[in-house]
Amino acid sequence: MPLYVYEAKDPEAACDRCRGGFEIAQSLKDDRLTACPACGAPVYRVIQAPGLTHSKTDLHYRAKRAGFHTLKKVSKGEYEKIY
Ligand SMILES: [Zn+2]
Repeated sequence: MPLYVYEAKDPEAACDRCRGGFEIAQSLKDDRLTACPACGAPVYRVIQAPGLTHSKTDLHYRAKRAGFHTLKKVSKGEYEKIY
């Protein structure tokens, strides 16, 4: 089953599980979640780039949870996000 990433809309109202985002395996025919299964806070689905590996996603979330991300300037006015 594909893994989907969800994140709390309001981190203030979120539990530890959904605050920094969580992954859940869902079948394609399942409805997308609108609330955290643990605390019921509203969540939204994070759109993931196709081909993003699981480990990369993990790093992304670890970095994000730590409250930072790194930007690399790739050209004038354009930045690439490095997690
Ligand atoms: Zn929650």
